[in-house]
Amino acid sequence: SGPGAGKVFNFKLVLLGESAVGKSSLVMRFVKDQFDDFRESTIGAAFFTQSVPVDDNTTVKFEIWDTAGQERYKSLAPMYYRNAQCAVVVYDITQAASFEKAKNWVKELQRQADPDIVIALVGNKNDLASRRAVTTDESQAYANEAHLLFQEASAKTGANVNELFKSIAKKMPLES
Ligand code: GDP
Repeated sequence: SGPGAGKVFNFKLVLLGESAVGKSSLVMRFVKDQFDDFRESTIGAAFFTQSVPVDDNTTVKFEIWDTAGQERYKSLAPMYYRNAQCAVVVYDITQAASFEKAKNWVKELQRQADPDIVIALVGNKNDLASRRAVTTDESQAYANEAHLLFQEASAKTGANVNELFKSIAKKMPLES
């Protein structure tokens, strides 16, 4: 089989998390394989698509909604997660408060989003491990208890970014 062979499954994916944890940077790394130290903040939300090959016959195409993390946009979030089949909840491993915010997003999703939504928790800025404020063990334990996928990643270096989206793709319902 070559390019274009097989089936494509589309899923709506929403990114949530505190401002400045690196949501937009993760999307830019995944979609364009680029990183910019001086990005401007997302206003409202931005939309991207990117495909992930799952196997020779199957491709998952994510329709990605990158939401602004600022408190003043928080009331808009339900509009983005309401019909989402997957959510990526991001925190910054150097900012303990951003991990608490991430847990609040997970709770909100588990109460209000589609009950079948696939949720991935992502500890971003893994390249700054020397300034770590949230341990891998703590996050992994929380993710297990809350039934979330979990990755530590770095939008800056690209570490684990493709792996993250691939692990989500593999969790999606792909009927043949
Ligand atoms: P957002 O508000 O959550 O979308 O965050 P941004 O993507 O705008 O990133 C906020 C800041 O963190 C920017 O200055 C980015 O360059 C920086 N940043 C994002 N991801 C990483 C990362 O993985 N490592 C490091 N060191 N900085 C990052």
